[in-house]
Amino acid sequence: MLRIAREDFDRICAQALAEYPHECCGLLVEDMPSGVSAVHTCTNVQQQRHEEDPKHYPRDASTAYLIDAGEQLRIEEAAEKTGGRVSGCYHSHIDCAAYFSAEDERRTWIFNSREAGDDPDDPDAMYLVLSVYGEETSSQRKVQGYKCFAWDGSRYAETGVEIV
Ligand SMILES: [Zn+2]
Repeated sequence: MLRIAREDFDRICAQALAEYPHECCGLLVEDMPSGVSAVHTCTNVQQQRHEEDPKHYPRDASTAYLIDAGEQLRIEEAAEKTGGRVSGCYHSHIDCAAYFSAEDERRTWIFNSREAGDDPDDPDAMYLVLSVYGEETSSQRKVQGYKCFAWDGSRYAETGVEIV
């Protein structure tokens, strides 16, 4: 179960709409003991990597996200200093539904060094996925839905989102 403040959830939606037609991304940092996760927006560096090295990064940012490792480390260190922890990450899907794709599962390495078939090192990590559909003008763009996924002991399954 992901617990997130309304204003933070709204910030993710605004970021997802603003960065369309690229996927947006960021990290969730859980405050202790409230259990509420705060949002830290990140730059989706996938587009830059794709342009620099399309052989190793065949997807552009319309179908993939990549959080800059340095940015992730800074957020992790700041979270530890305040007694919190990185509880997961979020990203948007462009013109398709909010689901946990095979590519999303491959990218859980962001939190662990998991090989296919292994249990995750961080089984508590949550992955929030938003679905954004765009029209020609930005005012017609919409976050159509969202779902959160977490490891259930054998696979990534949908878990609840409580907006507080
Ligand atoms: Zn995805």
